[in-house]
Amino acid sequence: MIDSHIHLYQYDNIEKRIDRWKKEGIEKVVAVSNDLKSSYETLKLKQQYPDFIIAGVGYHPEQLPIKSSEIIEFKNLIKSERKLISFIGEVGLPYYHLDKLTDDEQRLHIEQFSYWVDIAKEEKLPLAIHAVHSQAEQALTILKQLPEVQAHFHWLKAPEQVVKRIVAAGHFISVTPEICYRERDQKLAKMVPITQLLIETDGPWSYNGPFEGTETTPLLLNDILNKLKEIKGGPFSQIVQQTVSNTKKIYR
Ligand SMILES: [Zn+2]
Repeated sequence: MIDSHIHLYQYDNIEKRIDRWKKEGIEKVVAVSNDLKSSYETLKLKQQYPDFIIAGVGYHPEQLPIKSSEIIEFKNLIKSERKLISFIGEVGLPYYHLDKLTDDEQRLHIEQFSYWVDIAKEEKLPLAIHAVHSQAEQALTILKQLPEVQAHFHWLKAPEQVVKRIVAAGHFISVTPEICYRERDQKLAKMVPITQLLIETDGPWSYNGPFEGTETTPLLLNDILNKLKEIKGGPFSQIVQQTVSNTKKIYR
């Protein structure tokens, strides 16, 4: 199993945890970053656990737009550490924080997302994208200008028509443990072909329903896979294999 989206830098006792996760069948994790500081942390972890971690650098969109000096630092970091970096993320467009942003800041976010897409093209890297609800369509429109860039829409929530267009464009979509207790996510999983579906925990983000009070770790992937087996049919091992190969396909 591969966790296709986790904030690994936010966990303590990493060494013990990775040991345990490996014993429980977690092959790798796709480690995203939220800003410059966490990008450096993720790359440090990548050096410590090169085979276990697929590392990305990026700036989470649910905050103020990034400062221009930091954009330059990111660009230099990507050039200098290119060998450690497998993707840009997470990046995208704000939704939950939209009402906290001025019109100018919202415009700047759109410009900056285009900038990340350009870098992804230049460096031949995929993108881990946060763009939910009304913002998914806008992110897709920007991506369509550079169709050679592959993207993973993580924890997607979007209107049916937009999901279909994301699938038609060949991008990947992931589900979280929410799929175990939320109808919206179950409907999404039904719509996405198994060849474009990824599984993630977005850990250490915590969940409700049966996971209330449970710490979020990649071990929850088992629950997601069991639910997917129910939704998609077919043997458990096939669902595991397919989601692993999808993750490796985009995050090479
Ligand atoms: Zn995330």
